[in-house]
Amino acid sequence: MNLRGVGVSPGIGHGPAYILTTHVPEPPEGATYAGEADQEKERAVSALAQVAGELESRGDRAGGEAREILKAQALMAEDPGLVVKIRAYIDRGLAAQRAVYEGFTKYRDVLAGVGGYLGERAADLDDVRDRVIAVLTGQVLPGLPAPGAEPYVLVAHDLAPADTALLSRTSVAAFVTEEGGPTSHTAIMARALGVPAVVACAGATRLEPGVQVLVDGTSGEVRAQPTESDVAEAESEASARLAAISRIQGPGRTSDGFPVPLLANIGGPGDLEAALEAGAEGVGLFRTEFLYLGRRHPPQAQEQEDAYRAVLTAFPGGQVVVRTLDAGADKPLAFLPPEAPEPNPALGERGLRLFRRHPEVMEAQLDALATAAVGTSAELSVMAPMVSTAEEAEWFAEACRAADLPRAGVMIEVPAAALRAQSLLAEVDFVSVGTNDLAQYCFAADRELGALGELQNPWQPALLDLVAMAASEAADAGKPCGVCGEAAADPALACVLTGLGAATLSMTPAALPAVRAALATHTLEQCRLAAQAARAAPTAVLARQEARAHLPELASLGL
Ligand code: PEP
Ligand code: MG
Repeated sequence: MNLRGVGVSPGIGHGPAYILTTHVPEPPEGATYAGEADQEKERAVSALAQVAGELESRGDRAGGEAREILKAQALMAEDPGLVVKIRAYIDRGLAAQRAVYEGFTKYRDVLAGVGGYLGERAADLDDVRDRVIAVLTGQVLPGLPAPGAEPYVLVAHDLAPADTALLSRTSVAAFVTEEGGPTSHTAIMARALGVPAVVACAGATRLEPGVQVLVDGTSGEVRAQPTESDVAEAESEASARLAAISRIQGPGRTSDGFPVPLLANIGGPGDLEAALEAGAEGVGLFRTEFLYLGRRHPPQAQEQEDAYRAVLTAFPGGQVVVRTLDAGADKPLAFLPPEAPEPNPALGERGLRLFRRHPEVMEAQLDALATAAVGTSAELSVMAPMVSTAEEAEWFAEACRAADLPRAGVMIEVPAAALRAQSLLAEVDFVSVGTNDLAQYCFAADRELGALGELQNPWQPALLDLVAMAASEAADAGKPCGVCGEAAADPALACVLTGLGAATLSMTPAALPAVRAALATHTLEQCRLAAQAARAAPTAVLARQEARAHLPELASLGL
């Protein structure tokens, strides 16, 4: 069986398919138990405790943001209100597994009905419920297999950030999901791990468990039962590509010497090693929300300062762009719920909008950043996500000035911000284009939906027009316009973005060597011609094709 999805993390991976099923069958309605009620309650409570303990230890093993997310799930398993409900169902004669099912489902329906942040926790609750039922009925717990001798290809309908955070390069050869777009946070986490990945791959979960699978994270091809020569061919192509691009070192610049600093997108100090190894010249996007996710309270000042200082000291004299908390939408926070249930969270109170209602959270973050910068030599810049108007930009810049921060900027993620870039630039020192959200909002296409992948294709000429608009306004204002969305990670598109006027390119560290090589083998003029050709094309597919015609060295590098 040959399948095709969207390649979101480059490289070749192969191994036996492990199909991650998170669905545990519903215990029969009205199932009863034979023994004493107290014994049945004991069985239920100990299954809940076992699952809570396993989630916690999984979190401890993973560390970082995964620890917080899994700890929050562990707390759900032992929620006292839920335990009371489950006991009451057992008193009414239901078997422990059915009582657990009923208890969780009631709770889940209430949450789903509330919507917003709480609604989104319903899926986490289902996951906990399935794990408890699996324990009670002796089924294998849904979850990742223990690392074995041979790395496996992880196939799933979708993967939660907590799942991908637990993957390791040594145990997973590649991963393939049916859902997820190229800019979903799951895809971003996969790239950060450096594991080849294909998303939006219809039919993937119907692959036979254990069948050998060959995954090409660049082309998006997923081949079942490849021959030995298929694997050898794919691997030798990939290693030739790697050898060609890794010969090119040094700071980002075109072949005629035009500098384009190449920066890393990171989620925390844990990503610094990969960034430094890939030769990042600084950080273009520090997604600080990973410090806050899965928490009941914001991290303390000291914890924030430590994380920020670790990043600043890793790049002495280099640029470090820290983005303030981008909570809301697909990254909800327990302590910053939206004011009311949101039918469309991506269009709701997200990013800077949440700070307008909770300025104290922003102020604490800005203060922690200013404190962390003391005594470090990195060039700290701070920017806000999800800014739509000049008035919002002004409000944020004032807050940064009040905190004594040297440079304030905003992200261009909403078409309105690109259209009015001139007035936003009058308020701030720089802008940075987030092509992931800019594509989502430009095309009204949810970035988490695999089915709308083509609309989120960063080669869409309309998206390129918005980037061009922001970059040319920035040039007129004499201020830098960087690009930190995933578009910058595509070597051909990186050349196009340079041609459009991007001052810096920031991406997942794994993408840096290929982008460095693509720039180093083309002149600025070639990049400009590629950009013009892409914008003149009627479709995303043609934009890519036309642009590549001006970038002839990409093919010889195997990019
Ligand atoms: C973006 O939207 O392009 C971006 C860089 O931010 P995030 O992916 O974290 O939303
Ligand atoms: Mg964004």
